[in-house]
Amino acid sequence: MIKQEIFDEVQGLATLGRNISRHIWNNPELSGHEKASADYYRKLMAKEGFDIVDSKSLPTAFYAEYGEGHPVIAVVGEYDALPGLSQDACAERKPIEDGAPGHGCGHNLLGSAAAVAAIALKRFVEKNKVEGTIRFYGCPEEELLCGKVKMIAEGMFEGCDAALTWHPNDANLVHDSAYLANTAMKFFFSGRTSHAAFAPESGRSALDAVELMSVGVNYLREHVVDHTRIHYTTDSGGFAPNIVPDQASAWYFVRAPRIQDVKETAERVVKVAQGAAMMTETTVTVEQGYGCCEFKENNLFGNLIYANMIEADGPKYTQEELEFGATLQGTVDAGIVERANRLYGDEHAAMHMGVGERDLWKSCTMKASSDSGDVSYVMPTGLFTTACWPVGCSPHTWQTAAAAGTTIGEKGAHYAAKIMAGAGYDLIMKPELLSRISREFEERNDGSYAPMVGEK
Ligand SMILES: [Zn+2]
Repeated sequence: MIKQEIFDEVQGLATLGRNISRHIWNNPELSGHEKASADYYRKLMAKEGFDIVDSKSLPTAFYAEYGEGHPVIAVVGEYDALPGLSQDACAERKPIEDGAPGHGCGHNLLGSAAAVAAIALKRFVEKNKVEGTIRFYGCPEEELLCGKVKMIAEGMFEGCDAALTWHPNDANLVHDSAYLANTAMKFFFSGRTSHAAFAPESGRSALDAVELMSVGVNYLREHVVDHTRIHYTTDSGGFAPNIVPDQASAWYFVRAPRIQDVKETAERVVKVAQGAAMMTETTVTVEQGYGCCEFKENNLFGNLIYANMIEADGPKYTQEELEFGATLQGTVDAGIVERANRLYGDEHAAMHMGVGERDLWKSCTMKASSDSGDVSYVMPTGLFTTACWPVGCSPHTWQTAAAAGTTIGEKGAHYAAKIMAGAGYDLIMKPELLSRISREFEERNDGSYAPMVGEK
């Protein structure tokens, strides 16, 4: 058995990977509504000989399993799209359908690469009669940051030894740690309505409470740990200026580098809400939403992923692809492009090529959040990104939705499939390596993890 076998398996699955990615990109479904996408993957994996195990609580979640014994390797896939990001595969803003969803986060690529890596590993295990179990995880609701949290709470990730995951990005980078922990909260204020001019003295405005809460939170910002991010929207604030609003609500996200910081800051945000309620003589009800953890660092796993990024062949772009990339890049803020090029050490590149330095993740930790962080809390998890769109483009934009539907995105996904399959091979064939990675995981694990499933 030589390692090249696993890379050859992935190579042989290139067309399948492209077909999966195109199918999901052409049929975008929002978080919580990914029924057709989940069924598509179920059918695909069952046809390949995997057994399907459905979630008992989430109709769009499942895992597909093949093999026997340990190690049990989880390859994590996602397939949800984003609202309003319908976009054709071209370098100008052109929705396929106005207001419809689109794959601005490239989860069509994310899921297809995970499925291809799982299939390649399954075929390898089968042909060589190697002990080991491969699981492809069909994970919905990533954009709501809760699908995997729900799956973990249900016990669906139990029994695994290690997980492999990735995300489309503008660079080829390994991420030992990444993502900000996050929680969502809703605040419902209740006051007393009245005519705003005829009897203002008898009104107690719930909207005043929402506004005073945001003033308080904006003062709180100075006194929180570095890299905390707090964002909010006002869900409802009354119906007309001449009616004192007796109901108003706000929706908050609190993010920070560690889940413990999120919990502590969230408690303080609740106090600010209570203060706003007291000032306005209204009452407040807090709905605690789901929370997700930051990605837990594992340096040995990072080394393994990095070695496979070097070992696997990275994408080579045609002149046409590079020109498309440059045109798309020209539509985003030039300052971001310049900073990204400087960070990656490219003079001025449309696409990031090669592999970023081993420790580059320290200076460009992904500042968004992902429920993959919770997976890294329950088992050793390897995470990386590959270049699936031009340098400087940010996920959740029409530019990335466009790139995710082209051969540029598909080449990035193909590379990702090779990296995951290569790393999976190493985890299966080198038990000593896996046990060292597991030891590092245990050393960093203080046993305090509990999925934040929210409460009212
Ligand atoms: Zn994403």
